[in-house]
Amino acid sequence: MTNKIDISLQKAQSECSRTGLRLTDKRCKVLKILLQAAEPLSAYDIVDQFKQVFAESLSAMSAYRMLDFLMQANLVHKLETSNQYLACSHISCEHNHELPQFLICDQCHTVKEIGLSKQLLKELRGSIESTGFVLSSQQLELHGVCEACRAKQSE
Ligand SMILES: [Zn+2]
Ligand SMILES: [Zn+2]
Ligand SMILES: [Zn+2]
Repeated sequence: MTNKIDISLQKAQSECSRTGLRLTDKRCKVLKILLQAAEPLSAYDIVDQFKQVFAESLSAMSAYRMLDFLMQANLVHKLETSNQYLACSHISCEHNHELPQFLICDQCHTVKEIGLSKQLLKELRGSIESTGFVLSSQQLELHGVCEACRAKQSE
């Protein structure tokens, strides 16, 4: 049976070999943990789950190294504000990857990855920088309540 996680892992594997990156077994397992997670995970959560799921130990240092690799390959993103990681939601897509932006639900802690147009981001950046403030990251992490939680509230 092939599910979305397997499809994403296969796609990640072929994308990496096409671009000359080595998605080793351990890197692949870290990616799998993130693909299965319902919410973003810290590096320490990943170390814990690695032990539980694969009965293998992973040091925090190697977890960080693997996450760096996965981020460079655009397979994983990091939430700068909470130091948590999540799998890219477009791994199995064919389209180009845009600068990812994140909508974070404060109730169920799920994160939705959205792509905003380059034009919109440029305008946003322009008006921020006109105040003399220089952005170190172009990643937006917006907090709120997701559609599913809102639906639950109005029941
Ligand atoms: Zn992404
Ligand atoms: Zn997509
Ligand atoms: Zn929610």
